[in-house]
Amino acid sequence: MSKALLPGSTIGILGSGQLGRMLAMAAARLGFRCHVYGDAPGPAFDVSVKSTVGSYEDAAAIRAFAESVAVVTYEFENVPLAAVSAAGLSAPLRPGAKALEIAQDRLVEKTFITDLGIAVAPFAAVSSPADFKTALAITGGKAILKTRRFGYDGKGQARIAKGTDLADAFAALGTDAAILEGFVPFDFEVSVLVARGVTGELAFYDIPINTHRDGILDTSSVPSPLGLDHAARAREIAGAIAEALDYTGVLAVEMFYAAREGAEALMVNEIAPRVHNSGHWTIDACAVSQFENHIRAVAGWPLGPTVRHSDAVMQNLIGDDVDAWPRLAAEPSAGLHLYGKNEARPGRKMGHITRLRPRADVPKSG
Ligand code: AMP
Repeated sequence: MSKALLPGSTIGILGSGQLGRMLAMAAARLGFRCHVYGDAPGPAFDVSVKSTVGSYEDAAAIRAFAESVAVVTYEFENVPLAAVSAAGLSAPLRPGAKALEIAQDRLVEKTFITDLGIAVAPFAAVSSPADFKTALAITGGKAILKTRRFGYDGKGQARIAKGTDLADAFAALGTDAAILEGFVPFDFEVSVLVARGVTGELAFYDIPINTHRDGILDTSSVPSPLGLDHAARAREIAGAIAEALDYTGVLAVEMFYAAREGAEALMVNEIAPRVHNSGHWTIDACAVSQFENHIRAVAGWPLGPTVRHSDAVMQNLIGDDVDAWPRLAAEPSAGLHLYGKNEARPGRKMGHITRLRPRADVPKSG
């Protein structure tokens, strides 16, 4: 505990969204203060003692921000590397820049994961329509074309099938830096939320099954239908990635599961070097949430228990779903979380609700 931050210390968060908000709320529970830096005011500003609006490209402003805090963390992965590195000169940066560098580029990310001996969908770089022939030979005809950088919630993607006009699909991406991925006929999607402390200890949450609506996460539920062996393999994969990144904090690893004879049933889709939407249920269903464990890790504290006391279904409130808040607030066994955003635009994450039930199985410790 010698290098642990003292309660009362200030934690710097890059990014002002709802993830930053829930991080700051978890930090407050442990007696920390938060200073949030964002390129616009956001949900995290409302719950932090200090907030700064500045460009993520402004290395000097980010450095000044880092000088005002005891440690810097981030709540989204598209912070420019240069800015993050500037912050790292003035305060410990946790997780480090390596995780960002890898997660920011799907081609680098998939290469990194493959090099660890972990399965991903077949993939190939595409930087002009001329590359499609070779790429399709690797991926097969049913594929997904994705931008290498800045994709989220299914944005910057095009489905490729027989008859798709490849040149049009490529032009629609609006960038030359693309990756073609083979379409994975998965049975379902899961994500592993792993916390890694400064001294390298790992703590895993139960693995949720995730469903999507219009490319956006809709629900995350625990328990998932993943069998014990596959769950153990999924944890092993996520742990290996966290180790290889020398990671500090909570890391999310999204995976596809498909029952396959004699082949790896789990394939990594992508990693998120931050707390993750598919872990929001941990606030209501665990003694220590993913947000608190991220704060504990970056503060050099021992990790808290990840054991789940209830079965849970987290549902995102997207756009005008949030208008149902009076009814949702009246539900007897649910935790309602609203992010304080003013305008309920379509596709915008406005809040979430976690519905709890007593655990159907006998709780195990761990
Ligand atoms: P991503 O932005 O990579 O997380 O993709 C968003 C969603 O698209 C995923 O959660 C999957 O449902 C689907 N998806 C992405 N890549 C693939 C793939 N290679 N094969 C099948 N479905 C995919």
